[in-house]
Amino acid sequence: MTNLTHLTIAEALDALKKKDFTAKELTEAHVKATSEFRHLNAYVTETPEIAVEQAEASDKRRAKGEAGLLEGIPLAIKDLYCTKGVRTTASSKILENFIPTYDSTVSGNLMRDGAIMLGKTSLDEFAMGSSNTTSAYGNVINPWKRSTGDNADLVPGGSSGGSAAIVAARAAMGSTGTDTGGSIRQPASFCGIAGIKPTYGRCSRWGIIAFASSLDQAGPFARTVEDCAIMLQSMSGYDPKDSTSANQPVPDFRAALSGSIKGLRVGIPKEYNVDGLPAEIAKLWEQGKDWLRSEGAEIIDVSLPHSKYALPVYYILAPAECSSNLARYDGVRYGLRVEGKDLTETYEKTRAQGFGNEVKRRIMIGTYVLSAGYYDAYYTKAQKIRRLIAEDFAKAYEKCDVLLSPTAPSAAFAIGENEDDPVKMYLNDVFTIPASLAGLPGMSVPAGMSSDGLPLGLQIIGKPWDEATVLRVGHVIEKAAAITALPAMLMKKAA
Ligand code: GLN
Repeated sequence: MTNLTHLTIAEALDALKKKDFTAKELTEAHVKATSEFRHLNAYVTETPEIAVEQAEASDKRRAKGEAGLLEGIPLAIKDLYCTKGVRTTASSKILENFIPTYDSTVSGNLMRDGAIMLGKTSLDEFAMGSSNTTSAYGNVINPWKRSTGDNADLVPGGSSGGSAAIVAARAAMGSTGTDTGGSIRQPASFCGIAGIKPTYGRCSRWGIIAFASSLDQAGPFARTVEDCAIMLQSMSGYDPKDSTSANQPVPDFRAALSGSIKGLRVGIPKEYNVDGLPAEIAKLWEQGKDWLRSEGAEIIDVSLPHSKYALPVYYILAPAECSSNLARYDGVRYGLRVEGKDLTETYEKTRAQGFGNEVKRRIMIGTYVLSAGYYDAYYTKAQKIRRLIAEDFAKAYEKCDVLLSPTAPSAAFAIGENEDDPVKMYLNDVFTIPASLAGLPGMSVPAGMSSDGLPLGLQIIGKPWDEATVLRVGHVIEKAAAITALPAMLMKKAA
């Protein structure tokens, strides 16, 4: 029988329709793979019983002719999405025992369409990080290893590291992530899979634990662009429960893949040629331009002059919003409570013990930039520059239809690297944050391999609401790159 865990979502949907196997068989194969890859520590909570139960219900629906868009497809859900009756921790100690009484809109949409939940994946605590090393439940390990034979455990990227690692390990067919400044795109690049952050407002934020509300967006990870398109279809849509959800028509994303890119104008932001960009990444970027050119696209140089301020702006605005969003974790309403002699001491002890260092660092920065004497100097200023960054994109899009850049300035690094220097860690998102600040859709597609055998992604950034073109360009790059390499630990398994 075919190796069920190596199928794409599109292939599995066809095979389920043809009754080649059942959703229960497909799910059980993934539950088994989940246990085989437990050493990656990708999950905070596995939910095999729920998965099998859902699969049985899915088979019944299909038999009755009621199959949904993702009928019978086993997925992993980032542990930032509230799931009814299933512990949801945000990878924080402060939410160790939090069991939501409702489903987030987006995970609910996936289940409505017949998807099956394998478990809740680990992330950087409250989605703050680029390495999945700030989780209170331990590091997540990337299934890829360097080909140099050093055998070091590598980070999967972050914050959606568990979701990316488990899809790369072929133990889930797809997964959900969230992206505030790069948390879908950078882990997708590090793990050699595809991931798309849609336009801000495309997917509801309702029931997704908030980090920075003006930036947070849900999106899918999968092993192909087509699978991302299928998942995004289900995840998207207007939700009256989220006041920032946009009432925009959702196009047929999968159908958009078949169009040609002839005549499409692809902008190359010159400022993304940052100092110290590794030669192999610059080369991959060139290769990407060539692939698109040979499909009839026109390559155009554009300028995003304010993008050099994107990182400092982000590291004012995101902490500011997080400091206010995380004020609700006070030991009274949710999760952990450490009793003190009075209410204030209870707050202090709960927050001191419940939050990790990175979260505390951000709450302190956020509180500082929002405090009376500094508000205008930092917060207001950053808001103004955010507007300029967004205007740069709008201007660039007068000349082009999409932008192409590397996703990240490096391949996956070893666990522990960059740990002593938060600023160096923050540089991971230099290419992803500008689009986040402007609310634009962005996707990472596997496009090449580093000299030490690790996956590298290219990023496609689109106009607002134009995920369809982003996906189409991603599909062209994916076909041209035709990557067949697998993490060595999977090849051993197959052998
Ligand atoms: N790495 C960035 C940060 O630490 C982005 C995280 C994210 O997108 N959630 O904030």
